[in-house]
Amino acid sequence: MASSTETGSGLANRTGRIVVVGSNMVDLITYVTVMPAPGETVEAPEFEIGCGGKGANQAIAAARLGSRVGMVTKVGDDLFGDNTLRNFAENGIDTTHVKKVAGKSSGVAPIFVEPSGENSILIVKGANAELSPADVDAAADMLRKADLILMQLEIPLETVRHTLRRAAEWGVRTILNPAPASADLDVSDLRSLSFLVPNESELALLSGLPTGTEEEIATAARSLIAQGVGTVIVTLGARGARLVTADAVTTIEAVKVKPVDTTGAGDAFIGSFAHFLAATGDVETALNRAARYAAQSVGRRGTQKSYASAEEFETFCE
Ligand code: ADP
Repeated sequence: MASSTETGSGLANRTGRIVVVGSNMVDLITYVTVMPAPGETVEAPEFEIGCGGKGANQAIAAARLGSRVGMVTKVGDDLFGDNTLRNFAENGIDTTHVKKVAGKSSGVAPIFVEPSGENSILIVKGANAELSPADVDAAADMLRKADLILMQLEIPLETVRHTLRRAAEWGVRTILNPAPASADLDVSDLRSLSFLVPNESELALLSGLPTGTEEEIATAARSLIAQGVGTVIVTLGARGARLVTADAVTTIEAVKVKPVDTTGAGDAFIGSFAHFLAATGDVETALNRAARYAAQSVGRRGTQKSYASAEEFETFCE
């Protein structure tokens, strides 16, 4: 039996069935020497395209570790949509329910990185904004067979609410990462949710309570549990995570690494948590492994590029 502190990944190859109902984006990253002022044109030295979006990132993390992953999402009828579909296919993700929307752009994120490392980011949701409750119903066959359904908030809230209702009917467990934070999300939407995975600021917004201290974090998380949320997992960056249930708070230690790029660490943590939970059936074991997986991604450059395969993860654990 695996102990909660064991990080050996003999179970990493076991396959669970995970479906992500969420976003996909294409990151358009321009490295600038200086940001243009309004009306000005300046030359920039470097440009890079990367696949992103919280839904897609979490799906890729789970798939690289060996889960069978399906994605319910929408892309535009443009080159970015084709690129995203190819990326899903290359990572073994089932794209049966990835739909192309005529006349819409794909979700894109133009990102400007200044020499100081400061990022300025624009988000164009594009086709992600069209993902509807009807799309969830169209994917019912795939969703009802899932071990876990995974969601974030880069798609319409009514689609998230609808998926939660359907999952409760089917008896499928759900994970919601309430990011980016949305003031429109209400705790009453989350009564049937199995796992809520917020960071401190998302927890504060959702609970309406402060989250500045360990005690406040526990109180805020418990207030959500008292209103029907199953389990709350609060991520705290380099301070690790806290697993909060009605009667206990468990510290999930972060794994020490030299940080190279923390972008997408939260998505690595959540996608890998879904994989390890489906594979091991034990929440604490899954969280300890997820902390290790996220730390590995923090030690590498890029978002999806930094997500390890099952083999690379095993090597990191040795
Ligand atoms: P988000 O980006 O969603 O706010 P966090 O920054 O809390 O998410 O990161 C999620 C998890 O990734 C953390 O709980 C931790 O386990 C891991 N992590 C993040 N940053 C670091 C870091 N600098 N060193 C080690 N682990 C980290």
